[in-house]
Amino acid sequence: MRQTQLFTKTKKESPADEVAKNAQLLIRGGYIHKEMAGVYTILPLGYRVMEKIVSIIKEEMNAIGGIQMKTSAIQTKDVWEKTNRWSDDVVDVWFKTQLKNGTEVGLSFTNEEAYSNIVKNFVSSYKDLPLYPYDFKTIFRNETRSKSGMMRGREFYWKALYSFSADKEQHDEFYEKSKQAYRNVYDRVGLGDYTYMTFASGGTFSKYSHEFQTVSEAGEDLIYIDEAKGIAINEEVMTDEVLTDLGIERANLVEKKAIEVGNIFSLGFKFSEPFGLTYKNSEGADVPVYMGSYGIGVTRLMGTIVEVLSDEKGIVWPESVAPFKVHLLALGENIEQAQNVYNELLKHNIEVLFDDRTGVSAGEKFADSDLLGIPHRIVVSERSLAQGGVEYKRRNSSESTILSIESLIQQFAA
Ligand code: ATP
Ligand code: MG
Repeated sequence: MRQTQLFTKTKKESPADEVAKNAQLLIRGGYIHKEMAGVYTILPLGYRVMEKIVSIIKEEMNAIGGIQMKTSAIQTKDVWEKTNRWSDDVVDVWFKTQLKNGTEVGLSFTNEEAYSNIVKNFVSSYKDLPLYPYDFKTIFRNETRSKSGMMRGREFYWKALYSFSADKEQHDEFYEKSKQAYRNVYDRVGLGDYTYMTFASGGTFSKYSHEFQTVSEAGEDLIYIDEAKGIAINEEVMTDEVLTDLGIERANLVEKKAIEVGNIFSLGFKFSEPFGLTYKNSEGADVPVYMGSYGIGVTRLMGTIVEVLSDEKGIVWPESVAPFKVHLLALGENIEQAQNVYNELLKHNIEVLFDDRTGVSAGEKFADSDLLGIPHRIVVSERSLAQGGVEYKRRNSSESTILSIESLIQQFAA
């Protein structure tokens, strides 16, 4: 894509009221637009990043049997009354409104009830189980504080998968698989080295749930890590009893701030029983379905990648989620020569953003390129042409080299 076709522009300053680094950089780069605290529009560059994160999550969910669907955002009151989650005294983040005829409705702040209410129409026998539907969705939460940019939205995008199993054993088997799928997601988006699976509080049906927590000073949570054992625990479960249970000593734990980028939870019968979500087992008896939930905050993950991997010059995208693989800069009067390089890259299906702007200084183009954080930078200038090639540099390196475009393309293909 040509930069002159991109309607967004970079900014030197971020809005004065934006305190979170992730949102500051994303706004300055033209990735997102701030509507109000906790509410952001995803602009074209940001959309490309989000789509890449979404496809990684999709691949990992499909690999463990997930089937994608799309649940509605508008939800009727009666469904949520079944589990006593309609009341504002119980759930304080609802955005509610009314239809013209006075019917009360709410905008989904989560999905369990919606899924149980749907799935009960399709499950009758043990032969219908297990099943693993999921969706990507805009979630609405009237959060009290929203100062962490993309990491705490009042409107945000997530993936939620729900597992419907015949019994605990069938559930546990999937739950274990989901841990690996989650690990793969965080590895693939470049956060593997910073992300721990933590023990968090469970519920009636399991001692623990698990969270995926990315270590960052910008995090709102505290986790405790035993590096030697590779075990991490959430603050809210840090009791002597839990430490004994996990075979950990308090003295070996390091406290770190972290961002919850996902969680998995055994729900048991909590959301199946209120909906009469049962099936007939092989003896013909009615048994409630055993459920689990598996969430990932997609927009929070995008903010976390920026928060954790950026440097003083701007964003540093891992290649897997970068909006483009290559940022091609034409300097001086060399638009035509750069155009040839652009065509060559396109011919080889390499995703490239072409800074074809004229009347913009080299310094400005470099600064913009660093801010945008595209992994590979190619410069076409007097100097590079004099040396018979293009100047190539990685975003996360300070060394540049002169190469022919052919050898560079070969390098990309390898
Ligand atoms: P938190 O403790 O941070 O408020 P939560 O426990 O409310 O999170 P869940 O309801 O389990 O989170 O949602 C699943 C995932 O959605 C979380 O792991 C997180 O990644 C993401 N998420 C939750 N709240 C927000 C938010 N306000 N903005 C962006 N992402 C969010
Ligand atoms: Mg919350």
